[in-house]
Amino acid sequence: MIQKVKGTYDVLPSETSKWQALERTIRNVSRIYNYREIRTPMFEQTELFHRGVGEETDIVSKETYDFMDRGNRSNTLRPEGTAPVVRSFIENKLYADKNPVQKLYYMGPMFRYERPQKGRYRQFAQFGAEAFGSDSPMLDAEIIGYAVSVLKALKITDVSVNINSIGEEESKANYKEALINYLAPDISSLCSDCQTRYQKNPLRILDCKVDKDSDVLKNAPKPLDYLTEESKAHFVQVIGYLDSMGIDYKIDKNLVRGLDYYTHTVFEVNANLETLGAQNTICGGGRYNNLVSSLGGPKTPGVGFAFGLERLMFALESINFLGDPDYLHLYLMILGDDLKVEGTRILNRCRLGGLFADMDYLDKSMKAKFKQAEILNARFVAIYGEEEHQAKMINVKDQESGQEVKVPLDQLYNYIVAELMKPAHSCSSCSEDSCDSCGSDECDCDSEEGTCNCGGK
Ligand code: AMP
Repeated sequence: MIQKVKGTYDVLPSETSKWQALERTIRNVSRIYNYREIRTPMFEQTELFHRGVGEETDIVSKETYDFMDRGNRSNTLRPEGTAPVVRSFIENKLYADKNPVQKLYYMGPMFRYERPQKGRYRQFAQFGAEAFGSDSPMLDAEIIGYAVSVLKALKITDVSVNINSIGEEESKANYKEALINYLAPDISSLCSDCQTRYQKNPLRILDCKVDKDSDVLKNAPKPLDYLTEESKAHFVQVIGYLDSMGIDYKIDKNLVRGLDYYTHTVFEVNANLETLGAQNTICGGGRYNNLVSSLGGPKTPGVGFAFGLERLMFALESINFLGDPDYLHLYLMILGDDLKVEGTRILNRCRLGGLFADMDYLDKSMKAKFKQAEILNARFVAIYGEEEHQAKMINVKDQESGQEVKVPLDQLYNYIVAELMKPAHSCSSCSEDSCDSCGSDECDCDSEEGTCNCGGK
């Protein structure tokens, strides 16, 4: 049997409703912040990632899926979303759009040839946002607020934001020099990854997970101490706007993030949930004022973030996020071969009217059919047999109340719609949806008083 590729996974129908609810929430919050979706291809020319983003970044050393196409061109499955969005922004001249501030989001699969483990896959999904065209600190704060709002909308409330600034090019260059000089005598005492980073991307040493508690790193110079006045002012304003929006944050002086195209603000959003353990960073981002120009576009500032959606799913599991329930409005049972043509017509009419409807295809026993209706969570079961056919009627059972009625065949759709429009639960005497005191829909009512008389139990 052929099995799925290592590091990939299937989302089965029992799980897709959760993914759909997650995606819908993300889209709703994106609409609120006025970010519009951009969809770029799943693969790009290899050089976009290898030369464009810079050989020194972690993404490239994290390995990409590169392949030669039949025309002998090297293509790469996208390992992240920012470079493709920037490529599209430049190629489609979005910088010349009527709206000079382009706020975009993307959602979809990314591919990295990494060692698979819990929460780490070779195909995984990211949701990310990028805002181009303004270097206002308001936009840095907005993008952080947007990320936090996505989590809040998903009812993940125990969230913390870590933020830092590495400044623009001048601050970064000054800091890099100071760091290299500081580390020079001790570099051999750090892990092998740090020794590679020392040559290629020294800033990344600062948030090394292996050496983070060593005295060498604890006492290392911090980017915040090397900011130019301009960079400092930017950071102070970002913090001020976060305060004004009531967003909690912690300044993490060691935060640098993996990609070396960042300038000014870098941040991570953590969800403090047991299921995530040490991998509780579900969103990371920052400002990148030179990426558009380094990929051949006009000098255009940008700021963005990316969420790992599988990690977000893990987080949602621990708060029992259920997604949309599977259900049907109608399950049709046709009793007899001669009635199948007419039965199919009835079902089709209900579907054309928008009802979620299905039927029994297996000619099994009545008991098995009812079992199936239950499995499919059908609110109404319609039974169409010889007797109903003769009378031009159809038998309809409300699976919720147990009530059974015969309705004229051509009224089936109207009947079900009218029933569905009624309040979900009705007390037997009053018209309350449910008891005001106990919330139950089953308690008796004092119809004279017009209130439920459960005594508030
Ligand atoms: P990055 O683009 O490396 O900054 O990653 C952004 C987010 O994507 C991370 O915080 C993870 O949640 C997620 N992520 C990165 N790599 C993987 C992977 N191999 N499998 C699953 N999620 C990933």
